[in-house]
Amino acid sequence: MPTQKNKQTPPLLEHFRIRKEPIQYIIIHCSRSHPQRMIEIMKENGVSAHYIIDRQGNVTEVIKEQDVAYHSGISNWHNSPVQSLNETSIGIELQCPSMGQSKRSYNTKMIEALCVLLKRLQQKYNISKEHILAHSDVAPERKPDPGAWFPWKKLYQKGLIYWYDERSLAKEKDEEKLLKDIGYDITDLSAARYAFCRRWLHEEVLFDKEMQHLLDNPYPKNFQPKDKKRYIKRLRAVAKAVEKIRQE
Ligand SMILES: [Zn+2]
Repeated sequence: MPTQKNKQTPPLLEHFRIRKEPIQYIIIHCSRSHPQRMIEIMKENGVSAHYIIDRQGNVTEVIKEQDVAYHSGISNWHNSPVQSLNETSIGIELQCPSMGQSKRSYNTKMIEALCVLLKRLQQKYNISKEHILAHSDVAPERKPDPGAWFPWKKLYQKGLIYWYDERSLAKEKDEEKLLKDIGYDITDLSAARYAFCRRWLHEEVLFDKEMQHLLDNPYPKNFQPKDKKRYIKRLRAVAKAVEKIRQE
């Protein structure tokens, strides 16, 4: 008889497969529903994630880390050779009724819990500070999560991700090249632009509270930042910061 300690708990969902590639990325998502409902929705749609964090900071393991969960769909970062980052990533869902569209989207408890989980995963799999990403970063045409109010700066303060310094800019000045250098897929330039602003310049983001619209249209078509000069400067600063991280 196996002891309680050795007993393997089965995963909460059956939507996964055995992982063949090493884990290199962590993708952050959000979903409007309570975790229990989230699992039901995942089941209905044949998708999954490794962890769910609720608003009290409780962490639920849904799929084992060693298995591939279906959380990112068609996705890419910095010309990654795979069609979907699912193969090489861990997906974390956060319970967020406002989808990151309001200042109070994420509370301290849940972000603290997320940071503890991220730290553990980052150390365990030696994940680069550049490889903790938003779903909107890796699928800019399709996804808005975790939204413009996700507190990236807190992750930086915990040493989990990098940050930019506007006194240190990349030499490159061309917008498309900068977006590509950072890692964005620029097949749809408006989408890539908007995803960048969502994460790094949310003064430029429209806070559409109409969720269905946001889910159906994650970015405004033909989006142009209002302050182009500020936008290019931020792009150059982020590109420089990424460049430094890649050299480490
Ligand atoms: Zn997502």
